Amino acid sequence: MKDIQSLESWSVVKNGGPIAIAGPCSAESEEQLMDTCRQITEEIGITLLRAGIWKPRTRPGSFEGIGEEGLKWFANVKKELNMPITTEVANAQHVELALKYGVDVLWIGARSTVNPFTIQEIADALKGVKDVPVMIKNPINPDVALWKGAIERIYGAGVRQIAGIHRGFSSFEKTQYRNVPMWKLAIALKTELPNLPLICDPSHIGGTRDLIYPVSQKAIDLDFDGLMIETHRDPDNAWSDASQQVTPKRLAEILNEVNIKKSTTDAEEVNSKLDDLRGKIDRLDNELLEVLSQRMNVVGEIGDYKRENNLTVFQAGRWIDIFQNRPEQAAKLGLSKAFMEQLFKLVHDESIRLQTAVVNTEKA
Ligand code: PEP
Ligand code: MN
Repeated sequence: MKDIQSLESWSVVKNGGPIAIAGPCSAESEEQLMDTCRQITEEIGITLLRAGIWKPRTRPGSFEGIGEEGLKWFANVKKELNMPITTEVANAQHVELALKYGVDVLWIGARSTVNPFTIQEIADALKGVKDVPVMIKNPINPDVALWKGAIERIYGAGVRQIAGIHRGFSSFEKTQYRNVPMWKLAIALKTELPNLPLICDPSHIGGTRDLIYPVSQKAIDLDFDGLMIETHRDPDNAWSDASQQVTPKRLAEILNEVNIKKSTTDAEEVNSKLDDLRGKIDRLDNELLEVLSQRMNVVGEIGDYKRENNLTVFQAGRWIDIFQNRPEQAAKLGLSKAFMEQLFKLVHDESIRLQTAVVNTEKA
């Protein structure tokens, strides 16, 4: 899937750089949608306007979206504000209607990504439809393969403008987040699909307004390509996700405050200084590897010696000693104790594995 396009080459994304997607969780009325979107575009330059037309609700009885009528309003917003628009699609009919009303970018929600039947239905509806970008949210459960599978199905339909959206993962335990972010998982997906642009949805991760800024900053620090932030002209009275939506004014503040970092630069001085520092790291890593290799050789010698003298591989006293001593020594050198505990646990596990192999080898 090498030819997934970067955001810079997406037809709707002008000027490259991180993209900002904003708009209400749900379209509620034509006036609410138009007014919210107008305020957003007046407050700050964003890339794409979002609004949910069909809402997947966890329990029945909540507002389930305005439906096709809302697409007419959204099409008017697009025309009046001259902005591209995006909405969630969860079945073939949604795809057909969204495209009919000129929706520029589609997104697939977390509850759809979990279901390969749903994804395949959407993929089939997209076959032969050229050039519509599709953003695919992570499934609600932390499963990289499922997320990747959904991307592969959409890619298989011929779609080349694809992005992943990290919107966090469900958990039974109550946490400060509505959906716990698992950055490692998003990075694992990016490692498998290096060309895939990644967008963060701090609104569904955070669940409350005060978490939008820190989660956005974290995503940008991790080199995410964009943010999708739910924005409503009157968040407290929103028909869905009231506690996590921000006003257009607050959106502008957040996007201005988020310290956008670049992953590369053209500045020669900066690059040469970075090269120097990286050279140092390379040399130190070499030394680290040398030392580790020597340590493991000594471990082998100890194994031989233990075998000859009929001693056990694991000796609790020695292990407790190492496990207490090393982190304390490390702390004195300014290293984190927790990190050293983890590191020495790994080193010790590997030593035990090596010694067990040595002790169990027949004497030549
Ligand atoms: C949304 O973006 O409004 C939405 C329903 O998101 P998710 O699929 O992440 O819950
Ligand atoms: Mn929402």
